[in-house]
Amino acid sequence: MAEEPSLYQIVNVLETLYPLRYAEEWDEPGLIVGDPAWSVSRIYCAVDPTSEIVDEAIAHGASLLITHHPLFFRSVHEVSGLGFRGDIVNRLVEHHCALWVGHTNADSAHRGTAHAFADRLGLVDQRPLVPIHDDRSEFSVGLGRVGSLPEPTTLRELATRVARLLPETSLGIQVAGDPDEPVRLVATLPGSGDSLFDEVRASGADVYITSDLRHHPATDAWQQAKYETRLRAQGFAVGHGDATPRPALINTPHSAIERSLFHYLVGDVRDAIANRLGVTIPVELSQTNTDPWTFRMG
Ligand SMILES: [Zn+2]
Repeated sequence: MAEEPSLYQIVNVLETLYPLRYAEEWDEPGLIVGDPAWSVSRIYCAVDPTSEIVDEAIAHGASLLITHHPLFFRSVHEVSGLGFRGDIVNRLVEHHCALWVGHTNADSAHRGTAHAFADRLGLVDQRPLVPIHDDRSEFSVGLGRVGSLPEPTTLRELATRVARLLPETSLGIQVAGDPDEPVRLVATLPGSGDSLFDEVRASGADVYITSDLRHHPATDAWQQAKYETRLRAQGFAVGHGDATPRPALINTPHSAIERSLFHYLVGDVRDAIANRLGVTIPVELSQTNTDPWTFRMG
């Protein structure tokens, strides 16, 4: 058996699949915890680096935890055991388990989060919602995805499909739109998507599937969609569609939809390590749902 690869080698493989140059300006993905000289024998994956996920990774004997969400979003002044983040860092170091984050770089990558979810929905003729120009890639990359369902369906049927694709959560999914309206062109941004309504509108999508839709942006987008149908009825060529407000909205739990990333990542990382480094490293995915809501009333 070949020698165990170093963390440095593994990180190089990960950042070939999910280049850090695709990350949004405010985002700092990549290697967060770990000595590049550590050896890697087992990889564990999850959407969120929560304390419970770190317990699981350590219990699995993982030498590397890959998460989608960052451990640190804002500036950090200490990693002491007085805070949960410091505790996570301390436990990871103690058990020689590194942490690598594939966040917006993984969202925008070929076979990244949005691409994986769009493929699971069966979208054809896909393109990024917000393209990134990358001379070094033969693929079209960028945030989110726009594509067509092979056959038109109803909003109700599409929402049912989305619910079946995602792990069951207490939050469930919410929809704005007429359940019987026909939909075909779909825009999706797995993650918090209410900053991209302009791009979605420009894409001409019939429906937008995302998560974390806040009251005001979602209400504004839906009000505008309904207003445009009134203008169209008066003969003004605004927006798109006919008597139907577009885009309809499907709001999903955040981590549940982003778990789609791992539908490709688990196999892609294992294969890329085997191809580039000549070793087979087990890559496992946590089955824990890390959306924070634990029950729902009403
Ligand atoms: Zn996210």
